[in-house]
Amino acid sequence: MRVRVDLTLCETHAQCVFAAPAVFALDDDDELVYDATPGDALRPAVEQAVLSCPVRAISLDGD
Ligand code: SF4
Repeated sequence: MRVRVDLTLCETHAQCVFAAPAVFALDDDDELVYDATPGDALRPAVEQAVLSCPVRAISLDGD
């Protein structure tokens, strides 16, 4: 599973951080940082993050 975030769209609403805290976080400068290749066990949380992002900045590729 590969996660991509279009950081030109991201407005650091942090909904993804709430949905999948093992994958997404805000750093000390309030910039989004994330694990681009999380394990498949995290897929449901990442899918929730994709749905929760208000600007649709997150995309998820197959395997
Ligand atoms: S929910 Fe979307 S806009 Fe907010 S921090 Fe995550 S990727 Fe960025």
